[in-house]
Amino acid sequence: MVHANRHNPMLPYLGRLVEVKDLATEIKLFRVELLNGGREAFANYRPGQFAFVSAFGVGEAPFGIASTPHRTPMLEFAVNRLGAVTTGLHELGAGDVVGVRRPMGNAFPMEAFKGKNLIVLGGAYAYLFPIDWPEPFGLTMAESLATGTPVVAWRSGSVPEVVVDGVTGFVRDDMDGMVRAVEEVAGVDRAACRAHAERFFSGEAMADGYEAVYAAVLQSGGFPALLPARERALVRFVGGERPEASRGKQSA
Ligand SMILES: Cc1cc2nc3c(=O)[nH]c(=O)nc-3n(C[C@H](O)[C@H](O)[C@H](O)COP(=O)(O)OP(=O)(O)OC[C@H]3O[C@@H](n4cnc5c(N)ncnc54)[C@H](O)[C@@H]3O)c2cc1C
Repeated sequence: MVHANRHNPMLPYLGRLVEVKDLATEIKLFRVELLNGGREAFANYRPGQFAFVSAFGVGEAPFGIASTPHRTPMLEFAVNRLGAVTTGLHELGAGDVVGVRRPMGNAFPMEAFKGKNLIVLGGAYAYLFPIDWPEPFGLTMAESLATGTPVVAWRSGSVPEVVVDGVTGFVRDDMDGMVRAVEEVAGVDRAACRAHAERFFSGEAMADGYEAVYAAVLQSGGFPALLPARERALVRFVGGERPEASRGKQSA
């Protein structure tokens, strides 16, 4: 029996773009407020599912739902501009309307994930990190190295402190440099990447580093200005201040 109020699964719900913002080069976050009954249809979506999003007049494509049902009634999609549909979406802005078709696909096994760290980079050829702002640390670079995955990154913020150029990946100044570096990744020793992460970014190494800084501050009698230069820089770093040399992206 066909129910009169049953939504045709081939018809999209309408969604108003509440916010569109840049996440990275060519990647935008779309925050969508569902209209015409879509909110009910998406009320019970589960993390890991995807939806079809359409740019009217262009076409539709599948995108993972980047939001969590517990945090916001809005749906969020992170869209990498690639071809026709994704370009059509990138040309839209707040207030424009898109189509969204029902949540689909298997969800993540959230119960099995509980209490565990997730490694999503394992097995990748390389991790591309075209960061264009002075990221203070860049945890994802350390996570990539921990999985034995070399990092190819733009020189900005902490990048030269996390990636050892030519050993655990490549630090480059522009897109052409990054493209050339990708070809060289095959020559990077992946075990060296893992070893570097263990040496500098393991829980123990990080805790020891903090302990050393606090000990140095105590030893200085509360006058970090009297510390040797390296400890002084660490104290400023732990306090959230960036070293002058790595502020901003240096040009090629
Ligand atoms: C289940 C699922 C979930 C997904 N989730 C996401 C997500 O969360 N976010 C996301 O961004 N994407 C996601 N995708 C991928 C997304 O659906 C595709 O990127 C999208 O379909 C591309 O559509 P398009 O019309 O823009 O590209 P098309 O025009 O269809 O391009 C298709 C083909 O042409 C090639 N191509 C087109 N233009 C270029 C170009 N300029 N340079 C090089 N190659 C090109 C592409 O490699 C591709 O093979 C997901 C896909 C699936 C199956």
